[in-house]
Amino acid sequence: MNRSAYLRRQKQMGRRLFGVFPAQYPREIFWAMNTVPVEIWDPPLLTANANAHLQPYICSVVRSGLELILQDKTRLLDGFLFPHTCDSIQNLASIVNDYLGLEIPCCFFYHPKAPFDKGARDYYLSQLKSLTAELENHFGPMDPDAFKQRVDQGLDMQERLGNAYEMRRLGELAVSNTSFYRNIRLAEYLHPDDFISGFETFLAVSKNENLKGPAVILSGILPHPEILRLLDQQGVRVVDDDLLNCNRRMPLRLLKDQDPYEILVENYFAMPPCPTRGSPIQERLDFMKDKIRNTHVQGVIFCGIKFCEPEWFDVPQMVAALKDAGLKTLLLDLEINEPLSGQLATRVEAFVEMIS
Ligand code: SF4
Repeated sequence: MNRSAYLRRQKQMGRRLFGVFPAQYPREIFWAMNTVPVEIWDPPLLTANANAHLQPYICSVVRSGLELILQDKTRLLDGFLFPHTCDSIQNLASIVNDYLGLEIPCCFFYHPKAPFDKGARDYYLSQLKSLTAELENHFGPMDPDAFKQRVDQGLDMQERLGNAYEMRRLGELAVSNTSFYRNIRLAEYLHPDDFISGFETFLAVSKNENLKGPAVILSGILPHPEILRLLDQQGVRVVDDDLLNCNRRMPLRLLKDQDPYEILVENYFAMPPCPTRGSPIQERLDFMKDKIRNTHVQGVIFCGIKFCEPEWFDVPQMVAALKDAGLKTLLLDLEINEPLSGQLATRVEAFVEMIS
């Protein structure tokens, strides 16, 4: 079932749908309120109308998200959530909420930025509770038992995703890069009951041993399907990533606690360093070096999105530090939904030849 058909089916089952822009947010609160959060990263659309509302230097993630709304393809949704990820998402939030005159709720989620101290934890907890209160205002009270159940289910999901990455790292998953990321990214819109059962089958049928071949790490915002396909063709395995929409949102340790809010707070602060949460560059460098040590990769591919400010501030220092450490790096400046140019494809092929 494709994404649209799946979402229509969710509505028929009596669930609400919420469009969620990148990147970090507490999806468990939505699940507990019989709502499926549907993340909007790279809808496959040609941009026709959004350009009139945005400056030319806004990233294609925001551009295509706005296009989706302007083309009236969000009719199924019962609301939007805009996390405070970057200035571009903030601007988008204000265009959608203040100027488009939509008749569904637009909610905002202001998560804290580093440096994180005790105040940051209290603040994050208060943000979680105000989001719950706002949703309750629109849709009625949240059942505390359902909340606890969904938070535990979120932990279960994270654990399975973590296992999948570990198997990938050890060469025990016999699937292409394309298939791996297609399955990981189903978490962006599937209800957790469906994701968990489907993912279990995926891992069971994909289990294998000792896959060989050159290995790389991807860094950036999200995996570009054509890069994955090219790497598949060349026999290169992506064994780990530092992508905002994938591994960078997976907590490094999972707290099992009685209080569901405490679990959500703990998980937020246990996520890997990220420029959209204000992490210092040194933390990112140390984290990336650990990843490299654990995976024994031959190179790192930086899949940058054009005009993504938070990411591009860090990239030059990351590339320089990895080069100093003797790693091969490839730096790509991409647009989502645009085919890879011949020149970029040649650069990827040359990089693969160098690391092979
Ligand atoms: S790609 Fe970068 S600038 Fe665009 S929404 Fe994501 S974090 Fe913000």
